[in-house]
Amino acid sequence: MLGGGTATPCSAAGCAADAVHAVHWRNPRIHPVDRVKTWAACDEHRAQLEAWLASRGFPVAVTPFGESVERVA
Ligand SMILES: [Zn+2]
Repeated sequence: MLGGGTATPCSAAGCAADAVHAVHWRNPRIHPVDRVKTWAACDEHRAQLEAWLASRGFPVAVTPFGESVERVA
């Protein structure tokens, strides 16, 4: 949940922009199917983070920041 107006910074290295997207992902080799890892992403880095995960074959789901998902298939 978002609260108190506290912004969460983007997860990309060296980026201090406010996150507006949540990038949910899972590494199928080490994580069970109901495990979800979440990165915060600004507009600029959303595609970069998503592409990095996709290039490794990890399932990815992107939502508005603050939303969560049950799982990523
Ligand atoms: Zn960023």
